[in-house]
Amino acid sequence: MKLVLIGAPAAGKGTQAARLVEHYSIAHISTGDMLREEVAKETELGKEAKAIMNAGGLVSDEIIIAMVKERIKKDDCKNGFILDGFPRTVVQAEKLDEMVTLDKVVYINAPDEVMLERLTARQTCPKCGATYNKLFLPPKTAGICDKCGAELTQRKDDTVEAGKARIATFHEQSEPLVEFYTKKGILFEVDGTAAIDDITKAIIEGLGEN
Ligand code: AMP
Repeated sequence: MKLVLIGAPAAGKGTQAARLVEHYSIAHISTGDMLREEVAKETELGKEAKAIMNAGGLVSDEIIIAMVKERIKKDDCKNGFILDGFPRTVVQAEKLDEMVTLDKVVYINAPDEVMLERLTARQTCPKCGATYNKLFLPPKTAGICDKCGAELTQRKDDTVEAGKARIATFHEQSEPLVEFYTKKGILFEVDGTAAIDDITKAIIEGLGEN
């Protein structure tokens, strides 16, 4: 099973990807997580990506494509994978087409104001990567990760200003992917404002399994 999740920032891609990888026993590939690791390790790539990410822009197609090309060769991808946050441009999608044949592309759609509100309320665990949301998915103890007990943090790009820029970037550079994959006949859309469980159910049904 080779899937792509498309959606603006905070549409719920990461949350749904975490559930789908469990359901299908496939790998979760988040290019955002991969880049944040590079930033944390202060690699050359990380240093280059940091300012772009904090400003809500996109890291170059060339860098991202090379990263994904290597990642999908790894053993854990043998059974399939979910790409979360890639492709984000038509150039990336065209390159991906040369690498693999996708089964489906899921577009999680929600209005800008919903995503902006969610994004600023998002909290992430720096240790295990779990994500929470003060509005609708709070941890059991405020500020503490349910899974590993670490103190939760806010992503640097989950501010109102960076969030607005990221949503604008989505409309300009990533939304054309909806047409790109619709034309290929592999895209289906789910309502990103629905409850988390209902979205998961809609995706699994859309993928042809009840
Ligand atoms: P995400 O965690 O998916 O929201 O990604 C965080 C940031 O990483 C984005 O705002 C971009 O700056 C960068 N990024 C992640 N994936 C890509 C991609 N496929 N192409 C370009 N930049 C990316």
